[in-house]
Amino acid sequence: MLNTQPSVSSLVDRHNRRFTYLRLSITDACNFRCSYCLPDGYCASAQDAPLSVEEIRLLVGAFAQNGTRKIRITGGEPTLRHDLAEIINVCKSTPGIETVTMTSNGYRLTKTLNSYIDAGLDSLNLSADSLQPETFKLITGHNKLEQVLNAIDLALDLGLTTVKVNAVLMREYNATEIGDFLEFVRNKPITLRLIELMQTGDNGDFYSAQHVSGIEIQQRLLKTGWLQVIRHPDAGPALEYTHPDYAGNIGLIMPYGQNFCDSCNRLRVASNGNIHNCLFNEANGNLRPFLIDGDTEKLGQYLRQVVLGKWQGHQLEQGFSGTTQHLAMLGG
Ligand code: SAM
Ligand code: SF4
Repeated sequence: MLNTQPSVSSLVDRHNRRFTYLRLSITDACNFRCSYCLPDGYCASAQDAPLSVEEIRLLVGAFAQNGTRKIRITGGEPTLRHDLAEIINVCKSTPGIETVTMTSNGYRLTKTLNSYIDAGLDSLNLSADSLQPETFKLITGHNKLEQVLNAIDLALDLGLTTVKVNAVLMREYNATEIGDFLEFVRNKPITLRLIELMQTGDNGDFYSAQHVSGIEIQQRLLKTGWLQVIRHPDAGPALEYTHPDYAGNIGLIMPYGQNFCDSCNRLRVASNGNIHNCLFNEANGNLRPFLIDGDTEKLGQYLRQVVLGKWQGHQLEQGFSGTTQHLAMLGG
């Protein structure tokens, strides 16, 4: 059911970009050890406790009053939180929020996805960096490809409107699997998104050795009959391609490509309440004090300021990847 609320949309930056999409990390903990993200596994830090359900309720309410219409729940691994169904329900029942989606590594989902859909989950992104069990294990540290593939099928069977699969491209791990990824969407109505590896504070050497440009793949797609889907004005930076012989689409996320930031429509909140107006920027501040006071009016004013401070583009080409050590801190 669509929640109705006047469209305020007051989060507009100096470059006329409108921020209607919140990526909300609900934990920085993870059960995987992806080579590009947490190669040594999750190590609990003295970071503040994750936002509580009540804090999330206030936070999402303030974002919605300022024009947010879509929320992606992410992590770390969001399914590690036992109150995830409640969090989904809080987001979905907030007036103004139209879509609640989630990014997950998929490993627990065959057991719990039903309850998340009952709570209001509309769509899902799952990560599968390889379709080869051995390579999947090498990348993630876990022999769980089968569970993730089952979760993809279950999400389709349960009728989620959109199911996307994320694969981060890495020269020595999965760059030879492009043909397999294309074949995977031949009969599956999903979008498989090939994501360029991004440099973070922790993965500099790995990035230098493994980064593959999406341009080569874009050229391959265009040469083999894939056509770029016309972008909705509110679509984010991913490019999407369709082909008459395939049930699914291919997405390309190329943060190092030109004009990547022009269509940015998202803000990010880390699990401790830090807000980031760019994935590759240090935190702009912490929202928790507003949540403790319950002052959503002041929080809205603060969000409008944070948006006005957003740079036109990231500085990745100059090697500046911000203070984010790895994307498990912020949710990608
Ligand atoms: N744990 C969940 C998962 O892996 O799907 C959600 C959090 S994860 C940080 C979100 C997405 O960011 C995943 O698709 C992951 O592959 C991607 N990601 C993490 N680190 C990345 C990096 N350095 N470059 C590109 N994508 C990255
Ligand atoms: Fe965990 Fe996701 Fe990072 Fe992999 S990419 S270590 S699953 S947070």
